[in-house]
This record gives sequence, structure tokens and C-alpha cells, in this order.
Amino acid sequence: MSVEKRIEGLLREAACGHAITKAEAQTLLSVSENSLEAALLRSTADQVSRRRFGNRGLLLGQIGVDMEPCDGDCAFCFFAKSHTSIRASVLPTEEVIARCERFAAGGAQGVFLMTMHRFGFEWFRDLCATLRRSIPARLEILANVGDVDLSQLRELRDVGVAGAYHVCRLREGVDSCMPAAQRRATIERIIESGMAWYNLCEPIGPEHTAEELAEQIWLGVELPCRQHGAMQRFPVPGSPLYAHGQISLARLGQIVAVVALATAHKKETTSIAVNVSNVVGLFSGANAFFPEAGEPLAEIRRPNHPDGPEGFTTALWRQSNEITTADCRTMLAAAGFSHLMDTQGHPTRPLNANA
Ligand code: SF4
Repeated sequence: MSVEKRIEGLLREAACGHAITKAEAQTLLSVSENSLEAALLRSTADQVSRRRFGNRGLLLGQIGVDMEPCDGDCAFCFFAKSHTSIRASVLPTEEVIARCERFAAGGAQGVFLMTMHRFGFEWFRDLCATLRRSIPARLEILANVGDVDLSQLRELRDVGVAGAYHVCRLREGVDSCMPAAQRRATIERIIESGMAWYNLCEPIGPEHTAEELAEQIWLGVELPCRQHGAMQRFPVPGSPLYAHGQISLARLGQIVAVVALATAHKKETTSIAVNVSNVVGLFSGANAFFPEAGEPLAEIRRPNHPDGPEGFTTALWRQSNEITTADCRTMLAAAGFSHLMDTQGHPTRPLNANA
């Protein structure tokens, strides 16, 4: 049977709700992103996800609460100590609270608090405790921090942290200073602690093979994740991986689609995320975005600019304006999604372009 016929056949089965295997995922990741098969893949995942998630979208904000030249020294990262020019800074608690309120006003259901690989645990735990008392109750606090032990995870859970983002990244231990086993062990501890585990296939570059992508995606198929998805790598000038460039939105959508079909049978996975937030991803099986700012202030401010705000989001990597909750709602509405939802998949508010 030709490859085209085989792909058409397995996508027909996937459209009926059959989860794809790792070998099938690899086949789907091997086709050209501009082929008819890739278009059929994205369209199939779109159909499956809209049915699975009730045509609802999820917004989870992100706030970088501290930054410094990072010992993790990842070859793709803006903060890696070998090539960053970043100055160490900590976001004041009042500013974190203000940003959380703007995220909540924009319909976000949670916010990721991001630190470097090494961070002050007590400081972070106390920040989370303060936030839990200060921000809207429905806005979940989600940790995106370095490797931590089980007792620390339980402390975070006890002060109100609902979940944690942690990834055993593509080429972990090769493009980073952290062994893959260490990252995986932290993920297993997050699950053991009772917190929700948030996962992605990342940081995806043009050099990653179909086999590598399928292998990395599959940890989130084998272990229970609350969220899976895909994130492209932004080329950081001066970083060792800069020359590789970045993948297209069509390729990102193709990978999102494979993640959506690979997790189609997983009840605990209640959303599929794509980063950078984009409409192609929404037509490829994704239904979750990570806005970089909440409801916009009157003036546009650039991150890490002398007159701009402190702290960081992924807008810093793009050297661009931050994508707001309003931008995300507009994209979801344009893609025909009907409602925003909470992290369990329940509808929260209707979407329309002017919401
Ligand atoms: S990806 Fe994380 S661990 Fe690696 S250098 Fe950047 S902040 Fe540090």
C-alpha cells in the first residue's frame, strides 16, 4: 500500500476516535508540512479536538517572576549564562498580583509563574501563598520552576499551587545541562504529589527528526498529563542553535495535530496547547493558548525595554509586543470556537470577536 493510502486509512480511523500509535505518529511527522497528507492530518485533528473539547478554548497566562543568567545554560534559551545579556531582577509581588488580575479579567483560568532552573524555593512558595490569598479564586496558580523534590512539591500544593509545567525536552542533556532522567523524575514526582502535570513537545526546531519528536511526545501519552501540546523554538541571537532557524506554523500545526490524535483517548488530558499562539494551531487540534499579558493597558509597553515592564514572558524571546488575553480571544473567536473553558473543560464565558 502506498504511504498516501496508509496515511489516509489511519486518519479515517483516527477521525472515528482511535488513538494513533507511536509508529503511526512517526509516519505522520515524516510527511512534508505542505503536503496534502499534512493538510488532512491537521484537518482530522481539528475535527477530533473540537468534538473532544466541545469547541471550547482555554487561556493560561504566563508571568516570569525572576530572571538571571541561568545555570541550566540551555543552547536554545534566552537566559543561558553562556550567551545572555540579561540583568538579574525579581518582579515585585504587587506587580505579579496586578498582572494576575488582568489575566483573570481577560478570561484566563490559570497563570504559570516562571523562574530560572535555580530559584529560591522558600521565596517562591511564600509568593504563591500570598498570591493565593490575593488573586481571584478561580485563577489557578501553576508552577514552572526547576527540578524540585517531592516534599517541596507538597509544600507548593499545600499553599494552593494547582499544577506544574515540566518537560523532558527535545535533546535534553545534549542541548541542556540537565540529564533527561532528572527531568523525568521531577515529572513523576509532580504526578505523585497530586498536582496536575502540564506538558509540551518543545522546544521544536527544524533539525528535530520525526523519531525524536514522537519519542518526546510519548512521555505525555504514557504518563497522565493535564495538558499536552507543542511549542516552537524562537532562534535567540548569539545562542548555539540560532543558525537552525525556526519551524513554520504549518509544521507546528502538524506536530500539534499528532499530539492531539495521540492523546485522543486520554480523559485526563483536557486541553491541547500551541505556542506561539496562532490560528493555524487552532485549526490543527489545539484549543489552548498562553497569553503573555492580560487585558491590555492603554499604552503598549515592550518587555525588557528601559521604559517597559520588568519580568519576562515568551514575548521577550520574540522581541515583540506581548500577546494579550484580548488577542487570544479574538483568534479563538475567528477560528469559530464558541466558549472559553476552565482547566477541567467546563464552559466559562461565550466568545465573540468583541468579547
Ligand atoms: S530553558 Fe530554563 S533551565 Fe534552560 S537556560 Fe533557560 S531558564 Fe535555564
